[in-house]
This record gives sequence, structure tokens and C-alpha cells, in this order.
Amino acid sequence: MHNVINFENTENAFHYKSDRKLRKAAFIYTIISKAWLVKLAKPTTNFLLRIGFPIDPFLKHTVFEQFCGGETISSCQTTVNDLYKTGKVHSILDYSVEGKTDEAFFDHTLQTMLEVCKHAMDSKAIPFLVFKPTGLGRSEIFEKISANETMTTEEIEEWHRITQRFDTLCSRVATTDHLKIMIDAEESWLQNAVDLLVEKMMLKHNVERTVIYTTVQMYRWDRLKYLQHLHAFGNDNNIRIGIKLVRGAYMEKERERARIKGYKSPICSDKRVTDLNFDDGISFAMDHLEVFDIFIGTHNEISCRILIKKLMERGLKNDDPRIWFGQLYGMSDHISYNLSANGYNTSKYVPFGTLKEVIPYLFRRAEENTSVGTQTSRELSLIKKEIKRRKKVAVAQ
Ligand SMILES: Cc1cc2nc3c(=O)[nH]c(=O)nc-3n(C[C@H](O)[C@H](O)[C@H](O)COP(=O)(O)OP(=O)(O)OC[C@H]3O[C@@H](n4cnc5c(N)ncnc54)[C@H](O)[C@@H]3O)c2cc1C
Repeated sequence: MHNVINFENTENAFHYKSDRKLRKAAFIYTIISKAWLVKLAKPTTNFLLRIGFPIDPFLKHTVFEQFCGGETISSCQTTVNDLYKTGKVHSILDYSVEGKTDEAFFDHTLQTMLEVCKHAMDSKAIPFLVFKPTGLGRSEIFEKISANETMTTEEIEEWHRITQRFDTLCSRVATTDHLKIMIDAEESWLQNAVDLLVEKMMLKHNVERTVIYTTVQMYRWDRLKYLQHLHAFGNDNNIRIGIKLVRGAYMEKERERARIKGYKSPICSDKRVTDLNFDDGISFAMDHLEVFDIFIGTHNEISCRILIKKLMERGLKNDDPRIWFGQLYGMSDHISYNLSANGYNTSKYVPFGTLKEVIPYLFRRAEENTSVGTQTSRELSLIKKEIKRRKKVAVAQ
């Protein structure tokens, strides 16, 4: 494809990283490129934590520092400032605590998100909020609603509380004059309930401007149809539709469940088909900018180039406010920084939470990086390239 942007510029990509941090990143990516080490690390770390072995400082100064912004909202501020001041890369604070299932935790998540909203209100560097639906309610309830199953009175009440939490948070974001909120996508068997709630929030809050963004996982072969539905839904109700397009994070789980339960897997047959579906999603949304605001969450350089080309073809400005790119903190800086250096609206999810709370997230990051081997080796080779470049510059001076 026509080379619309140079992602090879490692000076842009890593200029916010000190030599020490860069060497550390090289060390971490070397470790996570070895699948057997990542496999071994999970039970070993859990065991050491269980017996109280002091490995916290090691984890904090390695994987935590690489993939998280801090333990609290305020301690993320240095990272938020670094990203914004050094490259105009925006931050999306992501409370990355996973796997807890009690009501007190769901209320705590809501409170944390309301604090993020307050914190972001006066910050140009934080344009979006994000949350995971199962951070505000039990997945079993999402599953029952999605499957239209009969529920007990207690479960119906639980669903009302979930709805209430969604509404409180979205309403708060809507009262600001500029903040927006993205709702992450979950596994397919929970997603109908999420879609239901998100559409409700859009009807309420996306009238004057785009406040609510839903997430559409293009590794699902039925999602182009869902985009068409969203387009009609936006037109019929005279509202805007914010969409975050991603490929999808739960492929193995999805396929395994479909196999065990004996239904057709919701995932595209192979990577090439997912990629085509993702491109079609971009095309469809770009053809209907009268309704859609678009955020692509991807570390795929080709996908970013495709969206850039579409902006050019339509004569849109690089920083058209309807178009955003996003990556995860600690990954693909060569994409984020080179996009923002060329004037595109760019952001990073910046995960936060106490070390113990975010350990499941960190393992997920390590495992995903291991499974997407080409991406990890690309990351590592760019880091090494920059280390070499800096050495050359130092020698020449
Ligand atoms: C900012 C941001 C927000 C995100 N939010 C969410 C979210 O809310 N929900 C969510 O589920 N994920 C989310 N993700 C993760 C995302 O869905 C992908 O898992 C991840 O970004 C890798 O895909 P890619 O486009 O970056 O890269 P690529 O390396 O090009 O694609 C890898 C992806 O392709 C797909 N794939 C790989 N092999 C196959 C195969 N054999 N058959 C079919 N498909 C295949 C999978 O989805 C895999 O994750 C987010 C990612 C980012 C950067």
C-alpha cells in the first residue's frame, strides 16, 4: 500500500524514554517473546505472592512500569504529562482490575470512574474515559440478559443496579462539555446485554454531541451487520454513534466455548478474514461520517494506514475531531508517536490499579504479546534499533 506514514522513525517513537527505560523495555520484550518463560512466570509469580515472597519491587520496576501508568489516578499524572508534553499523545485512564465479582467492588469501580471523570475534566490530555462492563456488574447477569433467560427477583434487582451504575457514570460524563466515554466489548455471550445498555445510553446522551462510544469487535463475522444496524439506529433517532473498532481479544475462549457447546463459532475463520472484516468496518464507518465518530484501537500498522488513506481521499484534516487512533500504554509507541507527530488524534489506554490488583491484566498483556509473536519481535527490533541509533549519536558527539 501507498506509504502514507513512516512508522520506522524510532527517534520520534521513543524520545520520551530515557536510555535506562529503553534498555528495560528491551529486557521485558525479550522475556515475553519466549512463550515457555511466560507460561512458567504465571504460576511462579502467583506462588511467590501467596507465600509472601517480596517480589513486588521486581514486578513494579519491570512489567508494571512498562504497561501501567501508576497505582492511583494521581500517580498516573507523570505518565499522562509525559505522553502529552513529549508527543501530544492523549491518555485514557483505564482502571484495570479484573475478575472481582462482589457488589462492593462494582460500587468501588463506579466511584473510581467518577473520580477519573473529575480528574479529567480540566485536562486536555485526557479526552476519553473507558470502562469494562463487567467492572460494574457480574458477568452471569450480562449472560442471562443476553440469552433472554428467566431471572430471579434478586437477579432482576442486580440488573437494575448495573443499569443504574452505567447511567450514573455516563450522565456524569455527559454533563461535561467535552469528555467522552468508551465502553469496552466483552465475550460474545455477554455482549447483547452490553449492546442493549450502550444503545440506551446513546439515545439519552448522544443527541447534542458524541458522548458514548460502543466497541465493535471485527473478529466477529456478524459485526458488519451490527454496524449497519447502528447506522440505521443513529439515523432513525437523530443521534450520533461513537464506535471503537477493534479486532477482539477473546478468540481462543470464544472458539473453545463454541466447540464445547456445539454452536457455530462467532469468530471469523482466519486472520485474513478478520483483517478484511476490520477494513470493511473502517470503510463503512468512514462512508457514514454523518452518523459515526470513529476510534480504532489497534497495533496493526496496515489498519492505521488504511484509515489515514481514507482521511486523505476524503480531503479531511489529519486531526478531524471525529477520527481517533488508540494503542495500549507500553506497546506500539512507534505507531502512537508517529501518528501524533503527523497531526492525527492519538491516545493510549493507561492502565492503573495497585500492583496486586493489576496482576491479571499484566499476565494478559504478557500472554497476548507472546501469542502475537510478529508484533512482539517488531516491538523488540524497533527498541534495539533506537538503542543502536542513540549509541551512534553519542559516539559522533
Ligand atoms: C486501545 C485499544 C482498546 C481495545 N479495547 C478492546 C475491547 O474493548 N474489547 C476487546 O475484545 N479487545 C480490545 N482491544 C484488543 C484488540 O481487540 C486486539 O485483541 C488487539 O489490539 C490485537 O489486535 P490488533 O488489531 O492490534 O493487531 P493484529 O496483530 O493485527 O491482530 C491480532 C488480532 O487478530 C485476530 N486474529 C488473530 N488470529 C486470528 C485467527 N486465526 N482467526 C481470526 N482472527 C484472528 C484477533 O482478534 C487478534 O487479537 C483493544 C485494543 C486497543 C489497542
